[in-house]
Amino acid sequence: MKCTRCKEPAEVKLRAHNSAFCRACFLFFFERRVARAIDHEKMFVRSSRILVAVSGGKDSLALWDVLASEGYQTVGFHLALGIGGYSQRSRERCESFAEKHGLELSVHALADEGLAIPEIVSATRRPACSACGTIKRHYFDAAALELGCDVIATGHNLDDEAARLLGNVLHWQTEYLARQKPVIQPRHEKFVRKVKPLYLTSEFETATYAFMKRIDYVVEECPNAVGASQLDYKAVLDRLENTSPGTKAGFVRDFMVRGSRAFEAPATERADTGGTCAGCGMPAFGTLCSFCSLRAEVDRKLALRTRSVSPAVTE
Ligand code: SF4
Ligand SMILES: [Zn+2]
Ligand SMILES: [Zn+2]
Repeated sequence: MKCTRCKEPAEVKLRAHNSAFCRACFLFFFERRVARAIDHEKMFVRSSRILVAVSGGKDSLALWDVLASEGYQTVGFHLALGIGGYSQRSRERCESFAEKHGLELSVHALADEGLAIPEIVSATRRPACSACGTIKRHYFDAAALELGCDVIATGHNLDDEAARLLGNVLHWQTEYLARQKPVIQPRHEKFVRKVKPLYLTSEFETATYAFMKRIDYVVEECPNAVGASQLDYKAVLDRLENTSPGTKAGFVRDFMVRGSRAFEAPATERADTGGTCAGCGMPAFGTLCSFCSLRAEVDRKLALRTRSVSPAVTE
């Protein structure tokens, strides 16, 4: 097998692109693909200060690596979720990556404020990923504001986007379909744009990039991912991709080009930006934003529990 670009022996075959590459040409191909997504979707420019949300996994660290080596101004942000050893190892990978490359990293640990994911789940009985999603959105937005960033970049890859699209279509989640884009524009002056530079880059390609660049990432999945329907959708899409390479890329790209606008809300609805949260000062549609409502629910339920287990007061 020869490299499609330079005809030297190839190291990796990409069926979806009908190509094979040697190491140097794969890295060139990968970086150019990410650069094209950034430019084509006008995600950010050279002067932008980019908050890269890093989990410690291959996708977000590969993204940080590409952006930093392309000379973009980045600051990593890691939200330590407090999910036992998994979170500990994830944080260590982010810290050692930042140290090795001399990059700025900000870490916020949920456990420091009594909001670790397992505690929230135990207090509220909410599904872990739903609570986690609310919390991540809040802290990413707040970190961008605090660290003076113009844009938040996440490591969602093609497989994530295809699985999410399939799930949204299967359940006709029209509101989510309207917001499934590589660039989400802010709806409030305290929010910044959110972008996904890897949205057309497959999980296999990011893993290959991380391997070739010797990025030390956390390999294990979050224990809460087990049983998530997202994994079933990924398995179905893998089977389709296997019989017809390029299916995932076509599904996602064609949706963005042809399908997405059918779900867009009218301009009048988009203009509704809500007010300010009484708890944290971030934008909110009610008195409290969804993060502060969650926090209030946790506090209330923990207080109830403490009261019910306290011994009766006697004179
Ligand atoms: S699997 Fe769920 S709990 Fe774990 S990091 Fe992802 S969203 Fe959070
Ligand atoms: Zn080559
Ligand atoms: Zn709030």
